[in-house]
Amino acid sequence: MDSAPDLDAPASSGPRQQPTPLLQEVAPLAPAGEKRRKPHRRTRIVATIGPASDAPETLRALAAAGMDVARVTLAHGSVEEAVGRIRRLREVAPDVGVLADLPGPKIRAAPFAEGGVVLVAGAELLLVPGSGESGSTAERIAVAVDDVVHRLEEGDPVALGDGGVSLVVLGRVAGGVRARVRSGGRLQGRPGVTAPARSMQLSTPTSEDLERIEVLVAEGIDLVAVSFVRSREDMEKVRDVVGPNGPMLVAKIETPEGIADLDRILEVADAVMVARGDLGVRVPLEDVPHHQKHIIKAGVRFGRPVITATQMLESMVTAPVPTRAEVTDVANAVLDGTSAVMLSAETAIGADPVAVVSTMARIVERTEEDFDYVGWGSGLGVQQISGPPSSPARITAAITGAAWRAAVEQDAAAIIACTRSGATARAISRFRPSMPIVATTPSTRTARQLSLSWGVDTIMVPESESTDDVVWFAVKRAVEAGFATAGDVVVVLAGSPDEAEPVADTLRLVRVN
Ligand code: PEP
Repeated sequence: MDSAPDLDAPASSGPRQQPTPLLQEVAPLAPAGEKRRKPHRRTRIVATIGPASDAPETLRALAAAGMDVARVTLAHGSVEEAVGRIRRLREVAPDVGVLADLPGPKIRAAPFAEGGVVLVAGAELLLVPGSGESGSTAERIAVAVDDVVHRLEEGDPVALGDGGVSLVVLGRVAGGVRARVRSGGRLQGRPGVTAPARSMQLSTPTSEDLERIEVLVAEGIDLVAVSFVRSREDMEKVRDVVGPNGPMLVAKIETPEGIADLDRILEVADAVMVARGDLGVRVPLEDVPHHQKHIIKAGVRFGRPVITATQMLESMVTAPVPTRAEVTDVANAVLDGTSAVMLSAETAIGADPVAVVSTMARIVERTEEDFDYVGWGSGLGVQQISGPPSSPARITAAITGAAWRAAVEQDAAAIIACTRSGATARAISRFRPSMPIVATTPSTRTARQLSLSWGVDTIMVPESESTDDVVWFAVKRAVEAGFATAGDVVVVLAGSPDEAEPVADTLRLVRVN
């Protein structure tokens, strides 16, 4: 075993005649009896920013309440407004990851007047083509893509918003179609319009999406969500624009075609979203929970973070407390193994966005007390990766499996992932270990991107010259931050600092003395 080195000097500056022992000791990093720090909540919270939440003091309060990632949607408002929000976020909550959500080919109604309207079952109304400068009303709804109305036929179902309001087409009249309200409800803003596939043009990404991406990349955005992804090829078109070192790409799964091509999509996406809102108007509603579980499992199989989205605490758009069913839905998503849970209207236009985030954080923290961490890791199959066994991703997957087992057997205080791109931390995150995952990185963007990954606490470290230095500083910083104390063993994963493609090829067990 190495003698105790000087911790303030880089490891490479001391003599190193002997090979590194498997269990390395570092001392004196922490006084005995020091209490270990509890890890941050493991399941992440993504909160959508909108008119109710984009004031600087609200953004600050949302971050303090538990918002890990802020979602800025481009479906409402201009790109300039979105850029304004992103810049405000960066200023007041620099550690929060920023996810820009591209609208894709979503067809929307022209806006309703403030406060919206209530459609009553049995009422009849007109659907007309046009972006509707005069807006939509309860008697006449304008649909922004002309062809959708032109292709509707008698008997066709039409869903509005997240599908709560539905119509049936009665027949064609001058200027549009007449429809009857099948199930009523409130419509506000610019609700989405979903008609049978023959009426919808669903090509992703749209040319507007691609133009917006260029602006977002220039803003240094952390993550981009691509809507209505139907195939791997849809994701590749976006990747071609952002390049290999651009933002992480999140594939929103919200169509039957996306579900059918899920494995191929996951090969090229960096993360995935169970977009339950649009999914629920395109597949039978009772299928949605099963798709959720299937998409989460597939995401974990590929080592990709998974976001479970939409209507999680919907009643809190107006109410001060959620329903029991909503609380159970959030808890079940955590138990399914989702990496993150998402808030949409609740924080974008809701009555009290900060209360919604703290409510969600409380539900998640309570659920995590009962999560079966060892059972989850033990039941995990090998990570699904295409490519030869020597590929960096396969080496990283193999070594993180060994790291998880070593951490369990040693009852390690933490698993430390020294990572430049974040790949090592994401690969160990899929094991959902009970001990903290501490990612140490010199990259602020990687740190923000890791705010979407389950259970990863990130610490910034300086660039280092050698693997020994990388490991050394990582352990030192983790101990300083309180993740390990005297007598603890920590498991450390590291890669070769000069490697062109990220690969974790070093596993060390370090005892803190
Ligand atoms: C969804 O449909 O569930 C979703 C997240 O997409 P959006 O909110 O952009 O419609």
